[in-house]
Amino acid sequence: MNLVLFGPPGSGKGTQSERLVKQYAMTHISTGDALRSAIRQKTETGKKAQTLIEKGELVGDDLVTELLRDIIAPLRSNTDSFLFDGYPRTVTQVSRLNAICDEFRLTQPAVINLHVPEESLILRLTGRRICADCKSTFNVYFKPTRQAGVCDACAGPLTKRVDDSAETTRERLRVYHEQTAPVLGIYGELGALYTIDATGSSDNVFRKIHAIIEENY
Ligand SMILES: [Zn+2]
Repeated sequence: MNLVLFGPPGSGKGTQSERLVKQYAMTHISTGDALRSAIRQKTETGKKAQTLIEKGELVGDDLVTELLRDIIAPLRSNTDSFLFDGYPRTVTQVSRLNAICDEFRLTQPAVINLHVPEESLILRLTGRRICADCKSTFNVYFKPTRQAGVCDACAGPLTKRVDDSAETTRERLRVYHEQTAPVLGIYGELGALYTIDATGSSDNVFRKIHAIIEENY
């Protein structure tokens, strides 16, 4: 079974990825992480990407696809179950992933799309606080500390990420939706798209994902 997981910032995609990997022994592939690692390790693909980034250009579909192939090739003999994260992000990448699946004899992926209403996402992201000392996370709206600004676990000071302002958050979400809408549209036409309401608890959301997988795969 192969899955593509979609979810805007604040949708809990990271948590659900971890749970899927554990429960179904999937191999998690984040093209963003892989790209950063390729650049650090100065691989052929990494060097090409570095040059583009230095020129202020986007790392295009060809290069990201090349990177994806580099990751899958050595893993394929040990697994036939991948969780794709951050790919495909463009219509071109959808057909590239399709070709990669054929090439490596993998089943075509199903797409799980985590939906959370924008206003909830804004509260989740702007309300987020992290302890400067022990890194525990809180949320002023959903998981407040006993004393404002003070960590419940270690009494350390709470901090807010600078890019979590309401304005920045709205812009990130706008870009996310603009970018992903065409990709989700294609998977919808293919009948491979499962959009789920991801407003509940992490357990609740995972149960929904689990049900889709059990029913269809
Ligand atoms: Zn703390």
